[in-house]
Amino acid sequence: MNYKSCLVVRTVCNVLAILAAVAVLILPRTVFPEGLGVWSHVLLIGALVLVLAGAVVKAVFYRCPHCGEFLPVKGKTPDACPHCGESLK
Ligand SMILES: [Zn+2]
Repeated sequence: MNYKSCLVVRTVCNVLAILAAVAVLILPRTVFPEGLGVWSHVLLIGALVLVLAGAVVKAVFYRCPHCGEFLPVKGKTPDACPHCGESLK
């Protein structure tokens, strides 16, 4: 997995986690007035697992394709690797 697909996986995990959390907040007030029961716990735990999975994927696979060193995890992807100077675009 290269650093670009790593970012895609992390973004998908975060979006799904947000959707699950929003579903827990909105569905009991709209579609299921009786509440979600155990499904609210399943959705919240699933959201947490997705956030953690996205963070682990980024921590493991967010590396320079040229030298293999880890890229900075904070902020946007730099234009060039801070270790070898090769372009990341
Ligand atoms: Zn590099």
